Formats: sequence, C-alpha cells, structure tokens
Amino acid sequence: MTAIFPTYKRFNLSVERATGTAVEDADGHTYLDFGAGIGVCSLGHRHPDVQHALEKQLNSYWHVSNLYHNPIQEKVADWLTQHSSGEQVFFCNSGTEANEAAIKLARKATGKHKIISFEQSFHGRTLGAMAATGQEKIQTGFGPMLESFSYVPFNDIDSVKQVIDDETAAVMVEMIQGEGGIHMAAPGFLQELEHVCRQYDVLLIVDEVQTGIGRTGKPFAYQHFGISPDIITSAKGLADGVPVGAMIAKERLRDAFGPGSHGATFGGNPLAMAAAEAVLKRVFQEDFLREVTEKGNYLLEQLNQFIAPLPAVTSIRGKGLMLGIECHQDVTPMIKRLIEKGLLVLSAGSNVIRILPPLIVSEQEMDQAVDLLSEVLADEKVYVE
Ligand SMILES: *Cc1c(COP(=O)(O)O)cnc(C)c1O
Repeated sequence: MTAIFPTYKRFNLSVERATGTAVEDADGHTYLDFGAGIGVCSLGHRHPDVQHALEKQLNSYWHVSNLYHNPIQEKVADWLTQHSSGEQVFFCNSGTEANEAAIKLARKATGKHKIISFEQSFHGRTLGAMAATGQEKIQTGFGPMLESFSYVPFNDIDSVKQVIDDETAAVMVEMIQGEGGIHMAAPGFLQELEHVCRQYDVLLIVDEVQTGIGRTGKPFAYQHFGISPDIITSAKGLADGVPVGAMIAKERLRDAFGPGSHGATFGGNPLAMAAAEAVLKRVFQEDFLREVTEKGNYLLEQLNQFIAPLPAVTSIRGKGLMLGIECHQDVTPMIKRLIEKGLLVLSAGSNVIRILPPLIVSEQEMDQAVDLLSEVLADEKVYVE
C-alpha cells in the first residue's frame, strides 16, 4: 500500500528523468511525451532557457512574500497584459486558484452573485471552481455545491439568454473544453456570448488554463474569435512545469481587489516567475506562434489522413497543438498500449484521446506519434480489454 491518497489512478510508469519531448523511466526505456504533463511543459522538459532562469533565481532569492515589491512579477505581468485584453494581473499557484480569484473578483466588482458556466466544462477542484464545473462526476459526494452556479449547454446561446439575469455576475467559459473532451467553441457563439454579457452588464471570464500560452497558436485562444474578455485565467503552460497561476483582468476591475481583499502566500513566487518569464519570452514571439500553428495544422492533417478512417475512431477535433481523437469506446486500454509502445498521451472525457505535445515538438516526432497511434488504434485486440 502507498502512503499517497489514491486520488489518481496511475499508469504503470515511474519517471527517472526527462528532456525536451522525451521521458525516461527507471529501466532506461524512453517515451515520446505527447501529454506534456497535462499541457504544462509547454517548452518541453527542462528547456535550457527555463533551466537557466531557474538556476539564476536559485542563486538570487527564493521567496520573500508579497509584502515587498517583486520586479520579476512586474515583468511577467507586462508580458501577460501586453498580449491580452487585460491590464491587471493577480498571481497564484494553479488553475483552480486562478478561477477562484476570477469568481471572487467578479462578485466583488459587480456586487452580483450568480455565475453561469457550461455543461462538460472543467474549472478546477476547489469549492468555487468545482461549483463552476458542469460535470456531475467532479461534484459527486462533495455537496452541497456553492449556491448561485448554473450550467447551460455549450455553444447554445439561447440557453444562456434564458438563465442570465440582473443577478448574474459572470459567465465562465473555455475556448476548447479540455478535460470535458476537446469540444470547440462553435463559430459565432463566443461573439454572441460577449454581446449578451455586455447587454446584461455581466463579466466574461475565459478559462485559458489549458488553451492559453501559445497552445492553439495565439497567446490566448480567445484571440481567434475577436472577443475581448474581462477576465482571463491562466496556469498550466505558463511556467514549463513550475507551479503557477495567473488571473488577468481589465483595469476597471482594479479597485475591487484592493489591499487585503485577496491574496496567496506563494502567489508570484520568484522561482515560478523566473520560469514564466523565460517561457513567455519565447512563446509570445510571432515566429514561435506561427510554428505552433503550422505544426498543429500538420498534425491535424496527419490524424485526418491516417487515424480518422480507422473503425475505432469517430472524429478528430481541436486546434493548434490541442487535439482530440474521439473513439467509440473508453480509451484507457489504448492509452495503456500506447505507453507500452513508448508514446504518452492523455484522455479527455472517457472516449477521447487527448494530444497536448510540448510546443517545441518536431515534425518527425509528430510522424512517429501518428505511426504509433495508427498501430494501436488499428489493432482490434485492444478493444476487448
Ligand atoms: C487543468 C484545468 C484547471 C485546473 O487547474 P489546476 O492547476 O489543476 O488547478 C482549470 N481549468 C481548466 C480549463 C483546466 O484545464
């Protein structure tokens, strides 16, 4: 028995070291990592820029608290605000904390309490973010949920119009539902959603914890849709594996988060900020983002050509380097078989294989992954498990 709570059903792999897109286990087997620590290692494992920034910060200072000025936080906040619709940043340590901050800010700034989110969404596991998560399986056993949260079908603007009212503080939405199964926002839906929010003076919160930081070929995925959210939350890919979270908001919301209103002891920790700065310096460059778009298009083409026709597969979805292969059945046996063959991928929902390679992935590595995927998904024996 292990002394760790069994909250995760773990695959049979113990990692010894990792570099770039490669993970190595204790026996010296290597794996091509197309999960990137659940979209976290955006520049791959131990990217030299990030490692260098961390080493430099290790020799400078590790933590002094938010009672004093922190120049690296300012730099990271500048990167985030210069590449988004927001002007103010709050730093924390995870995606769920960024969403908690967003929910609290929305309530305090508007003086209203209701939050609308979407079915199959995922916003985190803490009480507020869990209440915003439109999935029963995440909430089961932890009730009663916080009041004033409601869920409507994704991409259904009429349902939003039916529940939005004078007490609604915010609508919270993912651009591509990640954990829920790689479901994309429909063309036009987000613009309509923004319009309805403006009509009712409701804040638009976009949860970019998974889609942000270059994952879809833009700094933030909402930038594909021509909308201007009031609040953006970020975490996973922001510091290449060092825990970090950020909530970015419009300037007019600044006063609602005055001194003493909210906080996080570790938020904006210098090591996390050093890593984040190194990531953003690289990822928020036009050339880099163009390459992500090109790689994403290439991988999608390959999947459409070689994987989509397989009888096990129902559809291929996604954008940039956030892609999903929906299958007829639970994908766990396929994922296990892929690990045995040396490819790490994720699931989303129960029937979707989710692919989130490091953004530095090469064409050759994508070909290799597609070969392994087609081998495993074409093998009928994998379904009987
Ligand atoms: C992962 C995720 C979260 C939660 O992030 P944690 O860092 O695990 O708390 C929230 N929203 C989305 C969209 C996510 O993908």
